[in-house]
Amino acid sequence: MTIFSERLTTMQTQVEELITGRIHAIDRIVDANQWKVIRAFQQYQVSDFHFAGSTGYGYNDRGREVLDEVYAKVFGAEAALVRPHFVSGTHTIGTALFGVLRPGDKLLYITGKPYDTLHKVIGKPQDGAGSLQDFGIEYDEVDLLSDGGVDWELVRERMTPNTKVIGIQRSRGYSWRSSFTVAEIGEMVRRVKEINPAVIVFVDNCYGEFTEMQEPTEVGVDMMAGSLIKNPGGGIAETGGYIVGRRDLVEKAAYRLTAPGIGGEVGAMLGTTRAIYQGLFLAPTLVGQAVKGSVFAAAMFEQLGFITKPSWNDPRTDLIQAIQFTSADHLIRFVQGIQLAAAVDSHVVPEPWDMPGYEHPVIMAAGTFIQGGSLELSADAPIREPYIAYMQGGLTYSHVKFGVLTALDQMINSHLL
Ligand SMILES: *Cc1c(COP(=O)(O)O)cnc(C)c1O
Repeated sequence: MTIFSERLTTMQTQVEELITGRIHAIDRIVDANQWKVIRAFQQYQVSDFHFAGSTGYGYNDRGREVLDEVYAKVFGAEAALVRPHFVSGTHTIGTALFGVLRPGDKLLYITGKPYDTLHKVIGKPQDGAGSLQDFGIEYDEVDLLSDGGVDWELVRERMTPNTKVIGIQRSRGYSWRSSFTVAEIGEMVRRVKEINPAVIVFVDNCYGEFTEMQEPTEVGVDMMAGSLIKNPGGGIAETGGYIVGRRDLVEKAAYRLTAPGIGGEVGAMLGTTRAIYQGLFLAPTLVGQAVKGSVFAAAMFEQLGFITKPSWNDPRTDLIQAIQFTSADHLIRFVQGIQLAAAVDSHVVPEPWDMPGYEHPVIMAAGTFIQGGSLELSADAPIREPYIAYMQGGLTYSHVKFGVLTALDQMINSHLL
């Protein structure tokens, strides 16, 4: 049975031929990361009884302790804090930053404005919200240069003696910039430490895990955080986040998550443990599936004359595929097509709406098993020029292809292509 028109099926075949080399390269990354994860499980002798979970205080939860060790090993870090008690990526990143920053310290982001949800965490002086700036932590950011690089001249100027933490966002998030590869982040660490070796380099690793052979903590980053409903949760972890890095810093973050003196030694896992382990086990392979899907999507849309970022042939360091359309109609049809291709909630038709915190109406497709799970195929687009849709995820490569072809089919039926 062919579901799609001959025109689309022919295009699919051509594109799959075109991207063969890239797909093989992704398989090599998957193997490296999959084997790294398995070896970490083996080293710490992960056993069935580790999955049992705990209740109450969760004292001596061996599964939780070993989970932290396994994460630390996988990310090449001294220590880790992996918990279902982190409600989101934002909460995890916020906990890491609040953990290490003190009144009078300065946080300097060197990769431009951070991800939207972090703006309120950083806050404003005296905003009464208990934000970083409300607590007397100074904040500044250095915009990226027009070529997408770090503006080192300004960084040097803004790195004052009280600058305690340098913030780096690996993924483009929802902006039309390039994401930073692990090699580029390593270079940033080197340059920042040249200016002040004592500064803590923090990386927001959301969407980046397992897209490359190495992680930022393997190239000198001091502390890093991410979400379990993105890459490292492997589509299985139901909630949570992780912080990895230097032991002293991870401990401070643990004090912030629970309480000083208590840290990571308590916290009932409430039956979440097995899924977090299994998710980590699956993550390298599922991230590979999603990345293959992104390469396929980029190649298909480029064949049709659209501008994509990254291009199908560019190196990748995160899940996000940006596609620039020529009209709001294209954008809406594309997002609706992705929803229509979902296994869950395919009967729902997304419409643009005025989402709190956004200046323009936003349309989102998310037919996911885990609410908001963005290792699963999803797409978002603010309805404004230059009409960029951001798609990410896909638990299976085949599903991403189905999504892209369905979206294109929708666009063709609406006489947009
Ligand atoms: C998703 C994301 C966050 C925030 O995570 P939430 O789970 O949405 O709170 C932060 N930074 C980046 C780059 C992200 O992609």
